Amino acid sequence: MADERLRGDVTAFLEDAAHYPGGHATGIVFPRGTRDVADAVAEAAAILPIGAQSSLTGGATPMGEQILATSKMSRILEVSSAHIKVEAGATVAAIQDHLAAANAWFPPAPTFTGACAGGILATNAAGAATFKYGSTRDWVEALTVVLADGTILDIERGTRKAVDGRFTIETDSGPVIVQVPSYAMPDVAKRSAGYYARPDMDLIDLFIGSEGTLGVVTGVTFRALSPRPASALALIPCRSETEAIALVATLRNASRETWRTADPAGIDTAAIEHMDRRSIEILHEDGADARNHVAFPAGTALALLVQLEIPGSVSAAEAYSEIERALARDAPDTPLVRLCTILSDAGLLDVTELALPGDVRRAEQLIAVREAVPTGVNQRVGVAKLTIDQRIQKTAADMIVPFDRFAEMMAVYRAGFESRGLDYAVWGHISDGNVHPNVIPRSRADVEAGKDAILEFGKEVARLGGCPLAEHGVGRSPVKQALLRQLYGQAGIEQMRAVKRALDPAGKLAPGVIFQLAD
Ligand SMILES: Cc1cc2nc3c(=O)[nH]c(=O)nc-3n(C[C@H](O)[C@H](O)[C@H](O)COP(=O)(O)OP(=O)(O)OC[C@H]3O[C@@H](n4cnc5c(N)ncnc54)[C@H](O)[C@@H]3O)c2cc1C
Repeated sequence: MADERLRGDVTAFLEDAAHYPGGHATGIVFPRGTRDVADAVAEAAAILPIGAQSSLTGGATPMGEQILATSKMSRILEVSSAHIKVEAGATVAAIQDHLAAANAWFPPAPTFTGACAGGILATNAAGAATFKYGSTRDWVEALTVVLADGTILDIERGTRKAVDGRFTIETDSGPVIVQVPSYAMPDVAKRSAGYYARPDMDLIDLFIGSEGTLGVVTGVTFRALSPRPASALALIPCRSETEAIALVATLRNASRETWRTADPAGIDTAAIEHMDRRSIEILHEDGADARNHVAFPAGTALALLVQLEIPGSVSAAEAYSEIERALARDAPDTPLVRLCTILSDAGLLDVTELALPGDVRRAEQLIAVREAVPTGVNQRVGVAKLTIDQRIQKTAADMIVPFDRFAEMMAVYRAGFESRGLDYAVWGHISDGNVHPNVIPRSRADVEAGKDAILEFGKEVARLGGCPLAEHGVGRSPVKQALLRQLYGQAGIEQMRAVKRALDPAGKLAPGVIFQLAD
């Protein structure tokens, strides 16, 4: 693909959302289809596929490769209420729009809807609703991937399983044998921690979550759901972390019971988000609470944002009348009424902010409050970098533990940061036990101390049966690469390197992403 029209200026593509310094590239290509990608890969000495560069790990920051941007491969190829087939550069927003026209939706979407199909597949991205719907992996039916030698592989889920712990893949360069790594992956709802590995695994799962290091994804077929259920949001200020965790446990258990029994009146929670006390202070300092017409009562220790799904279509007026009657204990048995009863029994109904089904404006405000937490923290990191020390950077973890170990893990996060005198905030997806402990650095020393704390957390997360790399991937972050090594040991890294060497002997695809090619 020597066509100069498909080449461009690299300057706008030298960093991703992790803002790693030192990005540089030999050039950039904008292929328009799988054949162009195969030609570009075959020609390049080293190549880095990118989607929207919303990576939070530096995985989409070039370090001397040719960049392969998928932005001109963004066609939606087929849509039905059951699936959608797209090119790798199609954004999550476009996928949702096209599915909405078919009265369907893609449930595991990450918060950032500008992310591309190839990017979310390559990082096994997960959204707030993993508790109910799983991560991207669970929704990939088929993909097309270009290997390092230019071979184009079409893989459909269920058609190519590992035999005796290995795959034999026919490539343009001859048959390639890939040995499936033998490490045991943590048994948690989300993992974005190097290569997927199970003895009888599906070949498609090897490429999902491989962060561009094993092949360039050019097309994906995702499963979709129809119809999109109505939902209500509840922003619940809790007086203590213990109270919040007990409420989440009640909602998780009730939801599982609803899924088991298909009770139409049952509580059906898709997602529960959480913001700790410092997160709430940040909202207040930035005026994001007032701007969105939310007032947290004094003494709020932790706020929850619950997304409750409701079968059928319920208008806001009907929902409002249900709640009024619930308060009078004269209500029909519905999911909303059951939620209100739980909140009322916990003494939390009066302080809860509700966005009823169909009340789009209120729902947007409550979501904006949650989103203002990472925005506020990132702004503080940016200001510290500008005004205190250029070497200050975002210092954050993305860890998951089984929910019944969540309280223990929160105590570990707190102790680890506080013993080092750090300012910090913790928020995330409490329904999965997945949160993002973030340092709010005031000096370069805070960044170093924060990294040290995060490595300590990684050991504890693994001990509790969790995963220190839940949804953002590993990328080029030295801390995340160290967490991966802590999780699977040097032997695990060597097994991943062997997979990489089998499929990409020259190490040309995303070199240095997930792990270094050699120590
Ligand atoms: C505001 C914000 C909110 C976010 N929220 C979430 C969230 O809720 N959940 C979550 O999981 N993540 C979240 N992220 C992180 C990020 O959006 C995800 O990692 C996303 O999957 C990256 O998609 P992308 O298209 O931007 O990929 P990029 O950042 O461009 O690339 C990410 C990695 O995938 C590889 N890659 C990209 N395209 C291809 C391809 N076609 N073939 C092979 N490899 C490829 C790249 O080489 C790189 O290693 C968030 C990020 C931001 C900035």
